[in-house]
Amino acid sequence: MNFHNNFSMFPMRKSQQRQSTALYASAKETPNEALRDQSPSEPVATRVIVVTSGKGGVGKTTATANIGMSMARLGYKVALIDSDIGLRNLDLLLGLENRILYTAMDVIDGQCRLDQALIRDKRWKNLSLLSISKNRQRYNVTQTHMVQLVSQIAAAGYHFILIDCPAGIDVGFIHAISPASEAIIVTTPEITAIRDADRVAGLLEAKNIYQVKLLVNRVRAEMVQTNDMMSVRDVQEMLGIPLLGAIPEDTQVIISTNRGEPLVLKKKLSLSGIAFENAARRLIGKQDYFLDLAAPYKGIFQKVQDALLGDKRR
Ligand code: ADP
Ligand code: MG
Repeated sequence: MNFHNNFSMFPMRKSQQRQSTALYASAKETPNEALRDQSPSEPVATRVIVVTSGKGGVGKTTATANIGMSMARLGYKVALIDSDIGLRNLDLLLGLENRILYTAMDVIDGQCRLDQALIRDKRWKNLSLLSISKNRQRYNVTQTHMVQLVSQIAAAGYHFILIDCPAGIDVGFIHAISPASEAIIVTTPEITAIRDADRVAGLLEAKNIYQVKLLVNRVRAEMVQTNDMMSVRDVQEMLGIPLLGAIPEDTQVIISTNRGEPLVLKKKLSLSGIAFENAARRLIGKQDYFLDLAAPYKGIFQKVQDALLGDKRR
């Protein structure tokens, strides 16, 4: 799908503004029941997307949980794979930490079936979580194991498999990216994170993963306006990767993490919740506009505009 070619980071035309309003209304639409109830055995084209960054702590797990949950709410069958043994925190973000009896390691060791290790979300049954290992145990999941696990999940009729990658670029990273054909690179607008994101982009290319999109997290519009933070446009141009979305810095992210309730589930979405939902919609090709993080409540329907992007030409 070539949807990101439609992206424009310049101020919207009138016709696009109207379209955006309509799209926002549809963002609240009830999920596609027909898709949600799709029989698991029905063959679907599965997209396997790794969420990666290089630098730790930039928001990979937060993005995986929220984008995955958004896609599930839109009716898709989604599996999240937590391949970060260090913290194993995807389960906490989803509030599923007490439900994990089996992990991918148990599947590989023949201790259980895959469906026993795929934990269904409490709220959206079409969202599942597979943890690679429990209790910070070291594991020896090989690339072959990862590819086998992912193809088994795909065969169960999942539309999307999102792999939450461990930080760094060592063996855990290489294994986590091995089954993927697409990637989301998460970065913050800081030079250390951008440098690591650039390194990761090179490694992904070396592994023949060319469908890569950028998610810029923890953007502070007021700091961008005073030139104290790089704009999303600066980051995007430095990396030369198509933009999937920009997420604002938001204390709601921390609150939602502690509650085990992804932001995108809130009845009244925060700006970061809307931004994650928009990123998910863009990933599935349903949306082509960006949020204006600088004036969210005046122009929530507008594309990311001058202040956020650092474009002073308006
Ligand atoms: P990673 O998986 O890349 O290590 P996490 O998703 O665990 O990163 O996020 C690291 C920390 O940053 C967490 O405490 C999380 O709550 C916080 N965080 C992530 N995104 C945001 C945001 N947009 N606003 C505020 N805090 C955030
Ligand atoms: Mg993480």
